[in-house]
Amino acid sequence: MQHKKHALVIGGSLAGLLVGRSLANHFERVTIVERDIYPDQPAPRKGVPHSRFPHSLMLRGQQILEQFFPGLRAELVAEGAIEVDSMKDMAFLTSAGWTTRCSSDLRLFTCSRDLLDWRIRHRLATFPNVQFLQGASVTGLLTDAEHTKIVGVSLHRRASSTPQSTEELYADLIVDASGKASHAPQWLSALGYDPPPETEVNAFVGYVARIYQPPADLSVDWKLLFVPTAPPQRQRGGAILPIEGDFSEGETASQCSDPRNTRWIVSLVGGNRDYPPTDEAGFLAFARSLPTPILAEVIEQATPLTPIYAYYGNENRLRHYDQLSDSPAHFIAVGHAACLLNPTYGQAMTVAALEAMTLDQFFQHHAIDDLNHHTRHLRQQLAKAHREAWLVATGVDYRYRNTPGKPISAATRFVSWYWDQLMELMVDQARVYRTFMEVLHLLKPSIALFQPYILSQVVWHRFNKRLRRLRIGLD
Ligand SMILES: Cc1cc2nc3c(=O)[nH]c(=O)nc-3n(C[C@H](O)[C@H](O)[C@H](O)COP(=O)(O)OP(=O)(O)OC[C@H]3O[C@@H](n4cnc5c(N)ncnc54)[C@H](O)[C@@H]3O)c2cc1C
Repeated sequence: MQHKKHALVIGGSLAGLLVGRSLANHFERVTIVERDIYPDQPAPRKGVPHSRFPHSLMLRGQQILEQFFPGLRAELVAEGAIEVDSMKDMAFLTSAGWTTRCSSDLRLFTCSRDLLDWRIRHRLATFPNVQFLQGASVTGLLTDAEHTKIVGVSLHRRASSTPQSTEELYADLIVDASGKASHAPQWLSALGYDPPPETEVNAFVGYVARIYQPPADLSVDWKLLFVPTAPPQRQRGGAILPIEGDFSEGETASQCSDPRNTRWIVSLVGGNRDYPPTDEAGFLAFARSLPTPILAEVIEQATPLTPIYAYYGNENRLRHYDQLSDSPAHFIAVGHAACLLNPTYGQAMTVAALEAMTLDQFFQHHAIDDLNHHTRHLRQQLAKAHREAWLVATGVDYRYRNTPGKPISAATRFVSWYWDQLMELMVDQARVYRTFMEVLHLLKPSIALFQPYILSQVVWHRFNKRLRRLRIGLD
């Protein structure tokens, strides 16, 4: 295999870190260019303000992270991450009722986004061929003389004495992982290329979150509480996600006197412009309006540790880099820069992990010069990695009444109807619930929900319901 010299990643948040890890298997040198200076402990930073929100990492994502960084899960648990059996320890209220609870091997860890990023950065920094260029903002892309490929980036270093000074950095592969606000489409346009076509699905979802110290004497039979929205009927939802305990300033998580000291990230969500408020009274009133009083009751006994943070721009946006026929080679986009997902479904970090795996597999079989002709093929592979998550997120968001551009085909109406039947079955059928969880955690494709056993249960359930209605004279 031909030697691959230098890969450059724009943005060192989760997608950039995971892609950096996978490229380290194949390139002599990987440079991750990050605008921020990283904090030296798990803490929020300017470029990732959303780290204050719950970040659930799906099981497929957890598996990939463990492959990339063996022992990571154990390290996180030692730092205070919580182990959760997702079928036994999660109280999940569907539109049809609480799901059945039973022990399973679908075992997750939950922790803050800050702890996860910090641990991954720490592990990646031990790779001798990975370099972090912190405090450096990429300002544009560079092409070769023939105008056929991207060969580098222009950047500005924050510490530079002359504010306008620009440096150029060259590489064989450039990866945009600069997130939702990526300027890559504008950078491509400035070079005379077409920007990628975009698809947006916006259900106008608002999201607020706050960290709490749970009450010391709390006695509940769950670790994680999940009351998702269920549009179109239920456009409000909420959740409690346990995370590692706090640790005082200057102390690292592992030095914390009691790592079992769990905190909660409590989040509230509203679709169809029903944005949850950020004031104390409004937050509690919204929590009380959920279809179960449990969330409001327990937070009334808990101690708030932070202000209430809001994130109101939760649209889904797909940049179709895979559809560009005349676009420069040796340039790709990953993470939210390529596929922005409504974060309330908790899939984006797992998608980033799947994209990193895709790159790993691609470079096991391709030399760097293959990108001259195969960049589009690589982009198509990356598009496959986010397709399933995109369909799930937009499928649910289209169920809100006022989401623009809603498809109204018989097929979408059937999927919507089928979804409602599944929610009802999950209340007492552990096997159906388990398959649903495997799909949710991106362990199985959503087609698994249409396997013969589940299809037959849906038909049987529907038949029984109809029969009951006939008996009591409703039909
Ligand atoms: C409110 C909220 C909640 C979420 N909850 C979940 C969840 O539960 N589960 C889940 O899987 N995902 C969740 N996500 C998604 C997740 O946080 C990430 O956004 C996602 O994994 C994509 O990350 P990213 O690395 O592509 O982008 P980002 O995390 O947005 O990072 C982009 C990085 O690029 C840097 N950067 C930007 N421009 C430049 C530049 N020009 N030069 C150099 N550096 C630059 C930024 O400083 C930043 O570090 C949530 C997102 C939000 C907003």
